[in-house]
Amino acid sequence: MIDPFGRSINYLRVSVTDRCDLRCVYCMTEDMTFLPKREILSLEELDRLLGAFIALGVRKLRLTGGEPLVRKNVMWLIERLGRHLGSGALDELTLTTNGTQLAKFAEPLFAAGIRRINVSLDTLDAAAFGRITRWGNLEQVLDGIAAAKRAGLQVKINTVALKGVNEHEIDDLLAWCGREDLDLSLIEVMPMGELDTESRMDQYLPLSVVRARLERRWTLDETDYRSGGPARYTVVRETGKRLGFITPLTHNFCESCNRVRLTCVGRLYLCLGQEDSADLRAPLRASDDDAVVGDAIRAALRLKPKGHDFMIDRRSSAAAVPRHMSVTGG
Ligand code: SAM
Ligand code: SF4
Repeated sequence: MIDPFGRSINYLRVSVTDRCDLRCVYCMTEDMTFLPKREILSLEELDRLLGAFIALGVRKLRLTGGEPLVRKNVMWLIERLGRHLGSGALDELTLTTNGTQLAKFAEPLFAAGIRRINVSLDTLDAAAFGRITRWGNLEQVLDGIAAAKRAGLQVKINTVALKGVNEHEIDDLLAWCGREDLDLSLIEVMPMGELDTESRMDQYLPLSVVRARLERRWTLDETDYRSGGPARYTVVRETGKRLGFITPLTHNFCESCNRVRLTCVGRLYLCLGQEDSADLRAPLRASDDDAVVGDAIRAALRLKPKGHDFMIDRRSSAAAVPRHMSVTGG
């Protein structure tokens, strides 16, 4: 699949549910309204639609949400998708999770063919974790990460850098990742969805600032390593682990974009930071013919914009797009 700007699109991120067992302050409001269940694609519909993407050339699939592991029977879908790994049609099936359910799911995930997962963790301080997630239990996530490692899954930690919340702790997180043999990616907060509590300007911490601070203690060696995503990686000389920087605001990475995103209602978003989208649920439900779905996917790709317009500054701290990250899938 080639988009209008000549970029090859081979990576699909799928939000399998907009629901979550946590309410991270930068991601959701406390009283989020979730989509009615009837709107959501069934697991069978998702399996069929994702099969159509794979037939068109998607080589990497990431399940996300919301929290993918709170979707009922999600293991059925993951096991079904595993067959595309077996056939060689898919290079990688992976998952982004908050880790709360990992103690239960780590082994079945590995058995289904998943080898790498991203776990979101913004702090190692139990009280701060409770505040950021509004009611999460840090121990549960740490137990989940330990279970994932035992099961043989390679874990990368994703941390959103939040001004005044975890900025003093990022150094400790890096040291902890070194001890635990985990790579770490830092993410700048993105202006997605209206929030009730804080303004974006209050949360936004440029990673250029974080990096300069880290370099007082750590030696960050540049590397060409790319994980197929927007992160720029360094290797921490003292620990040997990777440290990635995902900087949509201070560094634009759109020219190498290889991905599109599917919501749990079957809407395909062509860019995380733009509204361009196409409904794939209607063609999926209208016809049993996968060729019809394939045509709808190809038509949608023609809508992929050149890049996003994210910006947070003093004049503009409003959401660049009205939907929350949990809708499109982070
Ligand atoms: N629930 C799973 C989790 O937390 O990993 C998967 C979905 S979550 C939306 C995916 C990632 O998006 C998480 O790493 C989260 O920290 C990040 N995220 C959510 N809202 C964000 C925002 N406004 N800006 C930047 N990252 C955000
Ligand atoms: Fe849930 Fe992930 Fe959003 Fe946190 S970041 S509220 S865990 S979807």
